[in-house]
Order: sequence, then structure tokens, then C-alpha cells
Amino acid sequence: EGSLTVAELAKKLGKQPSEIIKKLFMLGITATINQDLDKDAIELICSDYGVEVEEKIVIDETDFESLEIVDDPANLIERPPVVTIMGHVDHGKTTLLDSIRNSKVTAQEAGGITQHIGAYQVTVNNKKITFLDTPGHEAFTTMRARGAQVTDIVILVVAADDGVMPQTVEAINHAKAANVPIIVAVNKIDKPTANPDRVMQELMEYELVPEEWGGDTIYCKLSALTGEGIDNLLEMILLVSEMEELKANPNRRALGTVIEAKLDKGRGPVATLLVQTGTLHIGDPIVVGSTYGRVRAMTNDVGRRVKEAGPSTPVEITGLNDVPQAGDRFMVFEDEKKARQIGEARAQKQLLEQRSVKTRVSLDDLFEKI
Ligand code: GDP
Ligand code: MG
Repeated sequence: EGSLTVAELAKKLGKQPSEIIKKLFMLGITATINQDLDKDAIELICSDYGVEVEEKIVIDETDFESLEIVDDPANLIERPPVVTIMGHVDHGKTTLLDSIRNSKVTAQEAGGITQHIGAYQVTVNNKKITFLDTPGHEAFTTMRARGAQVTDIVILVVAADDGVMPQTVEAINHAKAANVPIIVAVNKIDKPTANPDRVMQELMEYELVPEEWGGDTIYCKLSALTGEGIDNLLEMILLVSEMEELKANPNRRALGTVIEAKLDKGRGPVATLLVQTGTLHIGDPIVVGSTYGRVRAMTNDVGRRVKEAGPSTPVEITGLNDVPQAGDRFMVFEDEKKARQIGEARAQKQLLEQRSVKTRVSLDDLFEKI
């Protein structure tokens, strides 16, 4: 790729090879007829003949993580924010996630049963918000380690009776490294010992200056237990989301990230995918990490079968040949053959990488013993 022999170039230009060799010689390049010419030499010759070289960009589709997604702004529409709740242990992350879910997900939607797929959506003022409910820090770090950025907004939960703790700081660092806006949820304000002002004071040290003190960080005082202040938090999420102008093109082949995956005895490999751009449909040929297949069944966060899923929507799918990993990226391809090809190539690549890691490890072992 990118190189031609003198004979090939001569043929393309409709010239005699000897003429090309002569020209090359004049340019200070000695070449034989079967010699490979580099890009620069080819360009020199072509420009000498007044022929423009069209650069063919070779796209490695097996490395779709590196593909730059280019959309005409005219095709972009607003998408729901994807929110991760983080904070110190016991400060109320799980309680808050449950409380938001229970207050906003219509019970009859799921016949009262809410199944866990690692993410859920709520509707507030006719707008959707997607919450990831995998353990915050873990999900965040695995995904980021794999180069996937799925979170748009971090909710930092800090218990008003406990204040800033080590994992609070860790969460702030994660969010800052990912350049994701933080909304502080000062939780447990129902407690008699709650001291929200102290939390705000302590967080000033981390540049999270409250709006009411002249900064630009939104603080929501709430109780995940009683539900007080939760509606306000949801409204603030929508506000921040609007400021971030989160958009995606729903009319392209879907691309996104694995939230979680497992092997189900009856259904085979099952994966929760977060669609980040495009729309995922039943039947779509898909590559997920180094697995592939066709989207067989698709269910949403309340266990209902759906035929398609647009940007920021979490869905559980079946139809893959193997179990992918959380943080893996997925992409839909034009046909099944292509998906299989790409999937197999990626599996092969992964295998080689694992092997080389193993070799490295055993070499290290060896050196340690020496
Ligand atoms: P996580 O470790 O951050 O997920 O924290 P949990 O959600 O498991 O909460 C830890 C404890 O704090 C549990 O006993 C909760 O019932 C309690 N808790 C959470 N939120 C509140 C709240 O707003 N008020 C009070 N009083 N207790 C809360
Ligand atoms: Mg928890």
C-alpha cells in the first residue's frame, strides 16, 4: 500500500518504464524497473506529468475505536445526558440511584418488576436522563482505562454528616481527569447532625465553589432516604446537560460501549450496551469488543422488548458469539460477513496481545528469579 514499482507507475501513467527511469535519474534517484518507489518519488513523477495524486486514506475498520466520528451538524439532535453517581462509601450512592429510579420509572411500565441491566433512564419534564448504576468508581476507571468515555455528568454524593472523605477526593479526580462536569449532591440532610455548609467549605479546596458563593458548581441539598430535593437534582442535571449541548446523530449505524456483560444459561452471551451515537436495531450485524453477531433480542431498562435504541439509550442484547467485557466498544457493520470478519480479526489481535503480555510476565518472573 502506498508504494508502486517503476513498471506499475509507468503503466498507470501510460508511459514507458524507461522514460520514468530517466526522469527519476534526473531527479537524482537511480531506479530499476521492478524497484518499489516511495510516496515522495511517486508524487514527484506525477507532478512532473501534471497528474495529481489522490491520497487514498486507508481506514482500518478493525480499529474502530480510533475512527473519528464526523457528523454534519445539521444531522445532530439533542440526546439525553449520561450520568454517573460517585462518592465515598456509605454516603448514599445506591440509595440515591434507587430513589431516583423508584420515583421516576413508572411502575406499570415494567409490571412492577424492575430488572437490573446496569443502567436506567428516567423522564423529567419530558426529557430523558440516563443513569449508569454500575459501581461508580469501578465502572468509571475500567471504561476510561479502555478509552471509553460514557459519562457526561458526575453526581458527587457527599454525606452532610460526614463531609469530604478519601473516595470523595478520588471521585473528584476521576471527573476532572475526564473533564466531566460535577454536580454535588449533599446527601442525608434529614439527619440532625447534617452540616451542608461544612461540605461546601471542604469542597472549596477542590475548586468546587458553590454558585451561591460566587463559583459555578451546582450544589443540591437532598435526602436520598426521604426523597427531599431529588426533583431539584434532576432539574439541575437537565440544566447542566443543556449547557453542555449534548448531541448525536440518530441516523447512522450505532456505536457505543458495553456497560456490562455476562453469560446467561438460557440466552447465551448477554450484554448491556449504551448506544452513544446512531440507532441500534434488531438484526443489526455488530462487533462488540472482540465478539460479533447479529442483534437477536433487545430489551430496555424496564425489561420491555424494543426494536431500536437511539443515542444515550441503554439496552440489553443477545446474539453475540461470546461474552464481551465492560468498557468494550461496539459498532454496527453493513452486513454479517463483514461483522464476522472484523470480529474475528479483533479476537485474533486480542489473543496475540494476551500472549505477548504473558510472555512479558514470564520473562519478568525469570529475571526476578535471576
Ligand atoms: P453507598 O455505599 O454510597 O451506596 O451508600 P448507601 O446508599 O448504601 O447508603 C449507606 C447508608 O446510608 C444506608 O444505611 C442508607 O440507608 C443510608 N442513607 C443513604 N441516604 C441517606 C439519607 O439521605 N438520609 C439518611 N438518614 N440515611 C441515608
Ligand atoms: Mg452502594
